[in-house]
Amino acid sequence: MNRRTKITLVVFVLIMAATFLSGLPKEPEETEVMATTEKPQVQELRIAEKPEPQEPEWIEVEATAYCPCEKCCGKWALNRPDGIVYTASGAIAQEGVTIAADWSVFPVGTVVFIEGYGTRTVQDKGAAVKGNAIDIYFESHEEALQFGRQTVKLYVVEVTK
Ligand SMILES: [Zn+2]
Repeated sequence: MNRRTKITLVVFVLIMAATFLSGLPKEPEETEVMATTEKPQVQELRIAEKPEPQEPEWIEVEATAYCPCEKCCGKWALNRPDGIVYTASGAIAQEGVTIAADWSVFPVGTVVFIEGYGTRTVQDKGAAVKGNAIDIYFESHEEALQFGRQTVKLYVVEVTK
């Protein structure tokens, strides 16, 4: 190996070393933390306003009771050959469902909630049931008598057709 070759080799080794060193991963530079005083933009949520639960509008009415008998229904009671009690609406009278009312106050199909008695539907009407009044249907005259005449509170649940 002559001198020239030696030098060439050394230079070559140095270059290789330099190349190798420069290729080493550098210390990661500290990244500047971007402290920001800006508040993050919060998207305004538009929550649909819930309707307030409405207090039912209680109405005081005079309540009487009736049954299918002649005392309660007069001549209508005499025209039930098959024993079925049809109301003025055409629906068959049912205790726990049927009430009679003045249809100009509580239209036929009106569902009411009567305090102490529950839900009833206006299916019938009667000459004696006028204004703020209802007549509650019972199967027996005894029950109707027992109910008698009372002031009750009710509210209209819905008016069905
Ligand atoms: Zn009766």
